[in-house]
Amino acid sequence: SKAQLFDKDVKVNITFADVAGLDEAKVEVMEIVDFLKQPKKYTALGGKIPKGALLVGPPGTGKTLLAKAMAGEAKVPFFSLSGSDFVEMFVGVGASRVRDLFKQAREKAPCIIFIDEIDAIGRARGRNAIMSNDERENTLNQLLVEMDGFGGDTGIIILAATNRPDVLDSALLRPGRFDRQISIDRPDVTGREQIFKVHLKPIKVSTTLDIHKLAEQTPGFAGADIANVCNEAALIAARKGKDAVDMSDFQDAIDRVIGGLEKKNKLISPEE
Ligand code: ATP
Repeated sequence: SKAQLFDKDVKVNITFADVAGLDEAKVEVMEIVDFLKQPKKYTALGGKIPKGALLVGPPGTGKTLLAKAMAGEAKVPFFSLSGSDFVEMFVGVGASRVRDLFKQAREKAPCIIFIDEIDAIGRARGRNAIMSNDERENTLNQLLVEMDGFGGDTGIIILAATNRPDVLDSALLRPGRFDRQISIDRPDVTGREQIFKVHLKPIKVSTTLDIHKLAEQTPGFAGADIANVCNEAALIAARKGKDAVDMSDFQDAIDRVIGGLEKKNKLISPEE
């Protein structure tokens, strides 16, 4: 059903406080939040408000989280769909879903539309795609038509996320479409410490827990991996009957998450 394909008019209570690190990206997106909050301030001098921005970065780094936080900060509805939802869809269905989504968004504006994994629909022609070329092209064309069909003062901001900006059809990146790129990188040690602090909030931890050390022991981890570590550590400690989570539980959880990441990497790039 449609409801499964995109979250309809979801009220968001996530704010920038839930997004740790990503300081530069936050500054850039705050500008967009302000466009949604006070559009007239920007159009007063004849300027055109941008319609969309591309969030670029590896998986699990907080692109979706940041997009939701923008909706939460601007207090506007959040509509989302994922490029991968269109995989294996019958020809014509993808395009009509895109049309429906924009129709609803226009009724609820100001609002944010978030398209995750836009590369699944926005790949340049001829690249080996995961969905049939006809269907992908229909869906992409409809998206371009919709984006061109409203003015920047309509109060709809379209955000899209990808970890492969290089494969995107250049039509998507033209002025008036996704003409801004915001990069969301894997966190450095300070960023990781901040992310640990966010995800440790609901967890009962031992007074001897060294958060800085945890951050040092998790190079290369994305925010999603850190969230995973915190949850695993709590489960490991609970299984052992402890009343607080300590360093050894976190060590075990980190090992487990590293094991999972290695397995995933092997699946993605099998040794040949
Ligand atoms: P994907 O490309 O796989 O969709 P993404 O970049 O959209 O990934 P999110 O879905 O936003 O990543 O992140 C997954 C989860 O990881 C978040 O819901 C959050 O719990 C945690 N997380 C990721 N980055 C951060 C961050 N910077 N601060 C706090 N939590 C984070």
